[in-house]
Amino acid sequence: MTDTMTKAEWQTRAERLVFRTQPFIDGSFVSSSSEETFAPINPATGREVCRIAVGSAEDVDRAVKAARVSFQDGRWRKKSPLTKKSVLLRIADLIEKHGDELALLDVLEMGKTISNAKAELGFSAGFFRYYAEAIDKLNGDVIPADISTLAFNLLVSRGVVGAIIPWNFPLIMASLKVAPILAAGNSVVLKPSEIASTSSLRLAELATEAGVPNGVFNVVTGLGKTVGEAIGRHHGIDMLSFTGSTQTGRRLMAYSGESNGKPLLLELGGKSPQIITADMRSNIKGMVSQIMHEAFWNQGQWCVARSRLIVEAPLRDALVDALVKAAAEVVPGDTLDPSSTFGAIATTTQMERIQSYVTSAREDGARLLTPDFPVNGCFMSPMIFGEVTRDMRIAREEIFGPVMSIHTFTDFDEALDLANDTQYGLAASLWTKDLRRAHQAITALDAGKLTIRSTPGATEQSGFALASEGWGASGFGAEGGMAGLRSYCRLKAVELVS
Ligand code: NAD
Repeated sequence: MTDTMTKAEWQTRAERLVFRTQPFIDGSFVSSSSEETFAPINPATGREVCRIAVGSAEDVDRAVKAARVSFQDGRWRKKSPLTKKSVLLRIADLIEKHGDELALLDVLEMGKTISNAKAELGFSAGFFRYYAEAIDKLNGDVIPADISTLAFNLLVSRGVVGAIIPWNFPLIMASLKVAPILAAGNSVVLKPSEIASTSSLRLAELATEAGVPNGVFNVVTGLGKTVGEAIGRHHGIDMLSFTGSTQTGRRLMAYSGESNGKPLLLELGGKSPQIITADMRSNIKGMVSQIMHEAFWNQGQWCVARSRLIVEAPLRDALVDALVKAAAEVVPGDTLDPSSTFGAIATTTQMERIQSYVTSAREDGARLLTPDFPVNGCFMSPMIFGEVTRDMRIAREEIFGPVMSIHTFTDFDEALDLANDTQYGLAASLWTKDLRRAHQAITALDAGKLTIRSTPGATEQSGFALASEGWGASGFGAEGGMAGLRSYCRLKAVELVS
């Protein structure tokens, strides 16, 4: 990996990129049974990135069969923990070795900036390292029993796991699914988003180079309504792990119920709050960049975007002024320019969706505090709306773009009530110096991930060991940490009676 390339050098690298465009099944790239292709469009330029096999239900079937054979004969599952660990560690090394290429693939397909994509590589390699190291630390339990019986719970692999992922962090999402799935000894059929598929294809190839046996890690590209549904309904898939919208997650529950009742892990949408109490008034300057980061990272296209700002009344005007000033300074930039920190919205469809929320906010009476919607193709700046009431669409529905709404409270119970007034429960942040309020929030906030701060500057340093589980329409099943590894294991009860 290099850290010193100029925009011109990145452009040259981009022009020379080789794209993997076919399904990866049983250890190699194969022709799809469908002759159709689709083209991801670079949102920064409007140009086709490459043409990718559209994939088919037959491709899914072929991938599931390859995964099943590999699982049954145990070519991966039966490998010793130490062997599996060393293979996963090699994948992490290869992610870093090919980091520039992997980062570029995500930049070209979904419009994030090259600096963000490079920073995200640490997460992808980190997931593989964390789960590599976790393999020989995953214990079952010995259960108390009478002297003639040895009773224990074993953790065994689930089998063939289907994994379906979204486009916002293509390589991170693929790594967060595949690393624990493989660490638990399973075989996997991964479907990336049709908007950003190529880093998943390259990851599977690198995993094979690292020593993952053929058939264990398969990727089928294509659309949700064909390839995704075929995975959701496949009788040969033992478990399905999904990250994406709540709407698709609910479809997958139906597919599971109508097929083999496969268990699901669902990481779905969010509409997360940030509460800021008035005792933070001396820290406004320091807080602004972190508040903006939590709302607008990846152009606001992240599931835990904390886009509902709930501010205590005495602090409202000063904080909002500072945020509006900072937002006005965010200029979306060329995604291949290493100095750009804010890139493009991933697709024109997503842009239109964001725009429709902006229109509805205006019609509902919210007031735009930042400069008027400066749209340029798929580029826009962050937008902040004041005078938002809790019943407005902009306050209730996930926008998945850089749009923040401001709410004000005078009583802390009211703030907690506003924060929880959502169908979702993915994340929440609280800024306060009041320990009593921090305690109250830990109990009261219905969210899988809480971040509570009393001073700006410090960032979370918990590594990869924290697990979380969404509430309500944000899904269910643990992802991350040891709990996330257990999600991909089945419990077997054994009684060995003398
Ligand atoms: P999406 O639901 O449209 O698509 C996600 C994946 O599902 C894609 O691979 C897509 O092809 C597939 N899909 C679509 N329709 C399908 C169907 N009928 N059957 C099977 N598969 C189908 O979501 P998106 O637009 O790619 O991503 C944005 C959403 O993802 C947002 O709601 C965001 O909050 C959510 N997300 C959640 C998390 C999390 O950890 N909770 C993380 C990232 C994104």
